[in-house]
Amino acid sequence: MLMQSARPLGELENPSEFIPRHIGVSEADERHMLSVIGEASRRALVEGIVPRSIARATDMKLPPATGEAAALAELRAVAAKNRVVKSFIGQGYHGTHTPGVILRNILENPAWYTAYTPYQAEISQGRMEALVNFQTMVCDLTAMPIANASMLDEATAAAEAMTLAKRSVKSKSNVFVVAGDCHPQTIEVVQTRARPLGIEVKLANSGPQWEELLAGDFFAVLAQYPATSGRIDDLRGDVAKVHAKGAGFIVAADLLALTLLVPPGEWDADIVVGSTQRFGMPMGCGGPHAAFPACRDEFKRSMPGRLVGVSVDTHGNPAYRLALQTREQHIRREKATSNICTAQVLPAVIASMYAVYHGPQGLTRIAQRVAAYAAIPVRGLETLGYQVRNTEAIFDTISLKTDAQTPVLVQRAPDAGMNLRRAWDDYLLVSLDETTTREDITKLWTVFADGKPVPAFAEFEKGIEPLIPQELRRTSAFLTHPVFNTHHSETGMLRYIRGLSDKDLALDRTMIPLGSCTMKLNATSEMIPITRPEFAHVHPFAPADQLQGYAELDAQLRAWLCEATGYAGISLQPNAGSQGEYAGLLAIKAWHESRGDAHRTICLIPSSAHGTNPASAQMAGMQVVVTACDDNGNVDMDDLRAKCEQHSANLACIMITYPSTHGVFETQVKELCALVHQHGGRVYVDGANMNALVGVAAPGEFGGDVSHLNLHKTFCIPHGGGGPGVGPVCVVEDLVPFLPGHASADGKQRPVGAVSAAPLGNAAVLPISWMYCRMMGAEGLKHATETAILSANYISVRLRDHYPTLYASPNGHVAHECILDLRPLKENSGVTAEDVAKRLVDYGFHAPTLSFPVPGTLMVEPTESETLEEIDRFIGAMIAIREEIRRIEAGEWPQDDNPLKNAPHTAQSLLKGEWTHAYGRDVGAAVLDERRHAKYWPPVGRVDNVYGDRNLFCSCVPMSAYE
Ligand SMILES: *Cc1c(COP(=O)(O)O)cnc(C)c1O
Repeated sequence: MLMQSARPLGELENPSEFIPRHIGVSEADERHMLSVIGEASRRALVEGIVPRSIARATDMKLPPATGEAAALAELRAVAAKNRVVKSFIGQGYHGTHTPGVILRNILENPAWYTAYTPYQAEISQGRMEALVNFQTMVCDLTAMPIANASMLDEATAAAEAMTLAKRSVKSKSNVFVVAGDCHPQTIEVVQTRARPLGIEVKLANSGPQWEELLAGDFFAVLAQYPATSGRIDDLRGDVAKVHAKGAGFIVAADLLALTLLVPPGEWDADIVVGSTQRFGMPMGCGGPHAAFPACRDEFKRSMPGRLVGVSVDTHGNPAYRLALQTREQHIRREKATSNICTAQVLPAVIASMYAVYHGPQGLTRIAQRVAAYAAIPVRGLETLGYQVRNTEAIFDTISLKTDAQTPVLVQRAPDAGMNLRRAWDDYLLVSLDETTTREDITKLWTVFADGKPVPAFAEFEKGIEPLIPQELRRTSAFLTHPVFNTHHSETGMLRYIRGLSDKDLALDRTMIPLGSCTMKLNATSEMIPITRPEFAHVHPFAPADQLQGYAELDAQLRAWLCEATGYAGISLQPNAGSQGEYAGLLAIKAWHESRGDAHRTICLIPSSAHGTNPASAQMAGMQVVVTACDDNGNVDMDDLRAKCEQHSANLACIMITYPSTHGVFETQVKELCALVHQHGGRVYVDGANMNALVGVAAPGEFGGDVSHLNLHKTFCIPHGGGGPGVGPVCVVEDLVPFLPGHASADGKQRPVGAVSAAPLGNAAVLPISWMYCRMMGAEGLKHATETAILSANYISVRLRDHYPTLYASPNGHVAHECILDLRPLKENSGVTAEDVAKRLVDYGFHAPTLSFPVPGTLMVEPTESETLEEIDRFIGAMIAIREEIRRIEAGEWPQDDNPLKNAPHTAQSLLKGEWTHAYGRDVGAAVLDERRHAKYWPPVGRVDNVYGDRNLFCSCVPMSAYE
């Protein structure tokens, strides 16, 4: 055989091997796409689109791209700098065993983690069933009537509960009473959130202080159950006192404890919040985990976040959908009750599956074991001469008065492989969990024994009982629905999980061309590190020397993101884009205050903005003034000039999105920034569209003062069906001191406090973005941006004659997404954008973004990761649908009975005996030749939104409904 001529070693060792794996468009495809668009090169295309005035002067300075194996090895070395020790810290974060069947088939399964928020109900039935299980689980355990489909963390859930109470109760007081025995990070976030709203937080230790405050004036109280110190307070007497004042009672509760304790709903609490972390989600240095709010029925229409409800489809069968969407910030804008958008869906699904797998008996057994194990060290420690507090009522946490010995013990513990929690200087707290073993307890005693004989576990084992007083023990049943009592074998569980994901469309089956959401590849190599023990099993409040790996990851990622954005400082603490917005606005506000300009509170927001912008401004205590857009969709500069002048003295900032939500690079952005600066305001650039900018232009260079990024859009963290996300807040030099802090972690007070429960927010998913940057390098990231722009323009041109693009720059080009205008179709065919969205389901696609930012349109964002083949398949489907619309226009099919109005078609509806429609069953099925063997069948027909809102029902469907 003839040997091929040898290539130089450098060519064989290709450090950029990942770039063509991430970017779906090959060089040959690119030439073809450019010829369709009519441009000579990718560079020329991009240079004609991105205004020269804002183009980056220099390339990003990032480490050169490296291959998948090398990047994984490098990150492994970073991870190794974290130290995994047994955590007895508690404080809302506990060891947990993620059942293997859930770990592999959900947390590590792209069918679950690459899904989008279930706005398109028909292709999201599987994950919505899991979320309804989550809601039911929370309702049952708390004994509250209604719960939503997750919040970002326990601390922000408590802060949201505070404002929910403020909106909902009779009391007009501005005082919020918080028990001092709540988790410190919860108190800190509540204080951050209360400040700009003029709410006064009064902290009270239990005893006389608490009694005194309850005798005063307030609109709500927050107490922890069990308390952060472990004590279980009987709060029943206090609820009546609070209600007598027309105020609300909020309880932060531990769901595992509630399997054994009388739940707050049974003693008339108004709102219950908490974390579901210990239901199978690793601690991950603080996140992501799903938190929850549950509330009384009267509050439900003002509850923040997303609620999954049960409705019916066109065939009269039960079907899930997002309920009460009118509460959502993107519709209510400055009237929104919360800015929450991306939540924690994937962790919520995991927590719900943990309950499905273990069932009520399994959960109770786990809780009883934890409680029994907690009773044992109490005895052992007393034998060793320690003074253990509250032994009459605890669940999992022991509190010891250790006085001068406290620091010695805290320091000694890690050498024995464990962390203890120091609280109030002279106390030690020891928290047990599902993973605690007999050996762990013996080791714990060894630390405390300090040379004395160590007690033997067996000595105390006999007759041990949880230290929960009789009157606080739960007697009511929970999780009685069949779903929590069926899938207890691994085979059964595996099939339940698989059955649900088979109902859904995620990125593992089709492109998801959702404008503004950037549904790009979430590469497997990026995902692999997140479940490494060194990242997954560390506590957010472990000693700093054990978190060196996370510190390095944080520092490197921040440095790279500074390069990408042109900013001077970044905090990775915000755990969603909306939280980044909030943190950024707080920075601007605090900066004005630091200069004696506290009156500068006007926030200008163009009418095209994403709804979270005005909602965040509202929460930051700013007044929103909406500015107009012109006919081309750009910010109307004359209107802006007028509003700047009108509000000059009180102007805090403007919030713009760049490129705009209309998918266009506005050419006057530099003038816009200069104008706002001239009037003493700062410029907030919403970074959700950074996928059109990375490597090409940097907001920190062209006039932005603050931005947030959505790492779950531009930087490859998967959407998880609606979270987790990471929303870093990025600022210019003079705003760096106003980035969020975290006194609970480092004791330092800063102008802006904590915005998330954990110092590093959703820390455990940061390795994803780190891997992406490391494998792409500066060249790869820029190439990705240019390809995203190329693909959007290719689609816009190919669909031009079928669906015109609404907004474009003067040369006819768009940015990384394009808005297809479907409004004119209505007139002659009765077809709406929603009909096209649903018909795409028949063709096996997830619809583009529907009716945002312009009603009656579809916004398409292909991203750089889609192959030309998939893009062409989408274009083919869109054209086929346009042909169908032409048949309606021609009168061939009635306007109210055609494949679009009846979409999506279930297999059942196509197979049923009688077929009365004007089109054939084969037309309804929309099986394109190339998909003959891989047709997606929606599990339900079109879901009735109105019915669901009129008949709000948000927990598991009784089996009888399916009969
Ligand atoms: C996605 C998005 C947000 C909100 O981000 P979340 O992470 O969902 O909170 C804000 N602005 C724009 C333009 C967006 O597209």
